Amino acid sequence: MDPVEEIKAKLDIVEVIGEFVALRQQGKNLVGLCPFHQEKTPSFSVNREAQFFHCFGCKAGGDVITFWMKYHNLGFNEAVEDLCSKYGIELPKSKEVLPQSIKALYAVNEAAMDFYKRALADKEIGRSARAYLEKRGLNKEILEEFGIGYAPDSWDALSTYFQRKGLLQEGLRAGLIGKSRQGTYYDRFRDRIVFPLWGMKGEILGFGGRLLEANNNEPKYLNTPETQVFQKRRYLYGLYQNLVEIKKTREVFFVEGYVDLLTLKSYGIHNAVATLGTALTPDHLKLIKPHISEITLIFDGDTAGRKASLRVLPMFVNEEMNPKVVLLPEGHDPDSFLRERGYLEFSKLLGKATDLIEFYMYAVSKEARQREDLVLAIRELLKTIKKISSPLLQGECLRKISLNMDMSYDLLLSEMERIDDVECRQVVEGTINVQGMRIKDMEALNLFYYSPYLLKEVSVTELRHLQVSESTLSLLEKMKEQVDAFGKIETDALLQACGEEEACKIREVLLAPPIFVAGNVKRTFQMLKDQLKCNLISAKVEEAKAKGDINLIGTLLKQKADLIKNLSQNI
Ligand SMILES: [Zn+2]
Repeated sequence: MDPVEEIKAKLDIVEVIGEFVALRQQGKNLVGLCPFHQEKTPSFSVNREAQFFHCFGCKAGGDVITFWMKYHNLGFNEAVEDLCSKYGIELPKSKEVLPQSIKALYAVNEAAMDFYKRALADKEIGRSARAYLEKRGLNKEILEEFGIGYAPDSWDALSTYFQRKGLLQEGLRAGLIGKSRQGTYYDRFRDRIVFPLWGMKGEILGFGGRLLEANNNEPKYLNTPETQVFQKRRYLYGLYQNLVEIKKTREVFFVEGYVDLLTLKSYGIHNAVATLGTALTPDHLKLIKPHISEITLIFDGDTAGRKASLRVLPMFVNEEMNPKVVLLPEGHDPDSFLRERGYLEFSKLLGKATDLIEFYMYAVSKEARQREDLVLAIRELLKTIKKISSPLLQGECLRKISLNMDMSYDLLLSEMERIDDVECRQVVEGTINVQGMRIKDMEALNLFYYSPYLLKEVSVTELRHLQVSESTLSLLEKMKEQVDAFGKIETDALLQACGEEEACKIREVLLAPPIFVAGNVKRTFQMLKDQLKCNLISAKVEEAKAKGDINLIGTLLKQKADLIKNLSQNI
């Protein structure tokens, strides 16, 4: 048996953790003081049934191996070895103890990369994709180094290939293919240039795809969903290929997309990384920080530069990093700028990079029409600076503003002190508003987790009209996929297919009892469904308006009115 499986089968998480943390029974769970953060009242729970732990305070959680890793500060392999020797489980000779589920994900991704590369090389199928890449100036060496390929313009090219190879289930788990309501399989990427997302050991963690030709029905960029091995907020595109150069120069450029990174590379700039179209996270910074002493953010010309700089500021300051910023001219990203204006102009721009706070103040004073705008913007900045944990670094920021705006330091300080702490707290969870009845993300998850059959009665499109956070939606989609395929939710498999943010949510659902019971479930669901239908119709009305289809608008509005009438009768 695989040692990881054996550890999980043989050890009881309650007994293992019980050696280090005093636990007492509370309902179906055990609780104690969290060993991972300071606390006086217990928010650390252990669930025997599903064999996991979770802290509501610091959000640490996972299975018995995760506990061992965190508690003893060990890597995955070390923790497995340690647990095996402590509890008398025999380790196989080979040092490699990657769980089977992870090996399988790497393997299916590898197979997909080969498939996409062959499609790109195919004389007929890959013709337009090759022309596109050539136009972008990406040469063969770069395409080969990054393993770039093409997903054919077909609903089932990859699915058929996977079916032949017996890889359908793994393909589903990797998010490369999906399963329709009718039970047929379809490809996630169609008519897209496909970019493998490389891990630091040269393994393929997932894929990003860019549409060959813009079309209104599909997003220009699409990534595979988060899996056990791939988390967007911890992933930097190009780090694997560029790390040597980054370490050598101790400097890194952050760009917003993978094509930008590749263009930079084709112009000889080998020390860049890209986020996957997401905002920069503290995890991104932690990944890069040990290797660099200088960091430059390159913002696209259409990025709301002021907003973007405000968002990343506290993150950098908390990591004691002082990045520089380059804002490209309007309408340009690094790719278009380099191709139109050339390397020399680009390096001139880089030479003009400014300090982040100075950049913000500059953007503000350019935008502000009157003194009041400026005051508002400074207040916004002070709110951000208040989130910085070190008073010393806070002072440093205030000094910069005071210099830039010619305002007294003490005035800025007293203004910052006045800002209410509540204003500084960010709203994380989205809420669904059902005709005056509000359901939070966690409530929606609780409803569907404990009454999974309901997921059969909503379509994926309808789900997307729930106003919930991205991670909640992705979880609901995964739950629906399982219910459609197996008629129930397999918690273990679900946890394995999830990124940490999603896993954290499942753990919290599992630790809570069902919120909605008996008749309440049906009623809540009916209202939710009606509301979703309303949202869907509203979206269609907007479409019809854009097309000027008056008949259709009329029909849709009538449908919506009927729905709302029904809704009020139900309440
Ligand atoms: Zn904790």
